[in-house]
Amino acid sequence: MKEEMKDLKYFIETWGCQMNEEDSEKLSGMLKSIGYSKSTDIKDADIIIFNTCCVRENAENKVFGNLGELKHLKKKKPELIVAVCGCMMQQEGMADKILSKFPHVNIIFGTHNAYKFPEYLNRVKTEGVQVKEIFNKETEIIEGVPIDRESSVKAFVTIMYGCNNFCTYCVVPYVRGRERSRKSEDIIKEIEDLVAKGYKEVTLLGQNVNSYGKGLEEDIDFAKLLRKINEVQGLERVRFMTSHPKDLNKDVIYAIKECDKLCEQIHLPVQSGSNRILKKMNRHYTKESYLELVELIKKEIPGVSLTTDIIVGFPGETEEDFLDTLDLVQKVQYDSAFTFIYSRRNNTPADMMLNQVPDADKHHRFDRLVKAVNESVIMKNKEFEGKVTEVLVEGFSKNDETKFTGRTRNGKLVNFTGENIKAGDLVNVKIVRAQPFSLVGEAL
Ligand code: SAH
Ligand code: SF4
Repeated sequence: MKEEMKDLKYFIETWGCQMNEEDSEKLSGMLKSIGYSKSTDIKDADIIIFNTCCVRENAENKVFGNLGELKHLKKKKPELIVAVCGCMMQQEGMADKILSKFPHVNIIFGTHNAYKFPEYLNRVKTEGVQVKEIFNKETEIIEGVPIDRESSVKAFVTIMYGCNNFCTYCVVPYVRGRERSRKSEDIIKEIEDLVAKGYKEVTLLGQNVNSYGKGLEEDIDFAKLLRKINEVQGLERVRFMTSHPKDLNKDVIYAIKECDKLCEQIHLPVQSGSNRILKKMNRHYTKESYLELVELIKKEIPGVSLTTDIIVGFPGETEEDFLDTLDLVQKVQYDSAFTFIYSRRNNTPADMMLNQVPDADKHHRFDRLVKAVNESVIMKNKEFEGKVTEVLVEGFSKNDETKFTGRTRNGKLVNFTGENIKAGDLVNVKIVRAQPFSLVGEAL
């Protein structure tokens, strides 16, 4: 029987950021193009892929735990193929550690060679070998890899890879390589193809989108790219992440203000509100310059939603430093924030710093930070009560199939009732109630 006829299934578990999610969509796209179909149940799968993250230790621990659990499955089903990829694999010694602890793993590859996955799979199947290949350096950008997207309404579009910033706590530059931008024509072509398939929204991805275009031969920067994308007919909404506060400039702020498709939402990770800590983090801005930037954004883009990432317990962080962070959170009033406890990462400068903060202090600060963030999130959500807002419908609500779900232009999740509505519609919704993490409404 031909392989394609056996209905072979794959299951992908993804940890980490949107970049990893997009990489998994590419793995999925490649597998579908060679005849596999997706399984939502790991036990049904003929191939299991773990796409890993190593930004924090707990993400790594989850991967180890899950790999351990696969041992039983593999015993019952020896033909099962297990592949592990992603950022964790780019760390020195990690692939060997995994192979020695979990010999049932068949394929290991890194972030720079995911496009070679079908080849590795073929080798395992035809030669019966274990494959481990990790490139230490980034390759040229590979265009044209098929992508099987999670949603049929909104899509991630990577505009640049890697990062040159070397924040002292972060492993991303080591595992994702140096900054490389895609040519604008390739990005526009991808977006036009998406629109032709019915997609309404794109989120442009990059570790530091504001430095988009550096090293390209064309005359382009991020603001110019945004204006070009705004011209794509049939596209409704454009978002992007992540902006580094040191690089987000007025050109981008004016582009958002002036271009109808650019949504009023900026993810602007602050990390800390203490100038002393920001310096030790190598972030290149101060609390004051950040607050000035926020003020300008709020003035120029009415209704803008601001989201952020914050780390507590960076080495040497004192109670006073932490209070500066709390003060900043209260001043900015974020619409949402990802809050993290500092996690020591091997070979990063922060790992070598003295005065690592005791766990108990980290947790105590974390709890107070979460409380402050939640207060601000609830307050920002309450501002929507009684208002009518445009929602891009994504489908039925996960928890309640009688309701629809979608997002406002500034990124708020809305669950709402209505009739004759389908995914991809833009509908006006009256918000009747604000909840801590979503809004409840009725379509007009
Ligand atoms: N390029 C983006 C995101 C990078 S990783 C940016 O610059 O914002 C996502 C977030 O993880 C970071 O913003 C940071 O808040 C957090 N993070 C990174 N390394 C960490 C570490 N060692 N411990 C705790 N949080 C970390
Ligand atoms: Fe990591 Fe800093 Fe680069 Fe973001 S900008 S990926 S936090 S090094």
